Amino acid sequence: MKKKSTNTMSANISKEMRREVYRRDGFRCALCDSTDVLQIHHIKPRGRGGADHPHNLITLCWRCHSAAHGSLMMLDDYAIKNSGYETEDDAIRAMTYDMELECIRYVADYYAEQGEVWYPWDG
Ligand SMILES: [Zn+2]
Ligand SMILES: [Zn+2]
Repeated sequence: MKKKSTNTMSANISKEMRREVYRRDGFRCALCDSTDVLQIHHIKPRGRGGADHPHNLITLCWRCHSAAHGSLMMLDDYAIKNSGYETEDDAIRAMTYDMELECIRYVADYYAEQGEVWYPWDG
């Protein structure tokens, strides 16, 4: 296993928690249903106080995961140019923010159905 502490996409969470999140999400990407190279994503980045807790974790395929981290290659060029934002940076920020909201909606809905209070931001 490679260790890169500077890599914001590496999630140093336990195998058990990883498995729990994959199982909760049905072993598919929460955003696009792909089963292609699944990864665990922190909905709220740890740098902004997001917890290593299933409430703050979501299963994404590598494409959605890269896009959620603002990887230009994974974001749709056309969508960026037609987003109405003045700069590419602004467009990317807005698009990653949208993805974050989609992730939040996904887990919030999930826990609402379970009758659980979803409050991922502490811990
Ligand atoms: Zn996906
Ligand atoms: Zn991530």
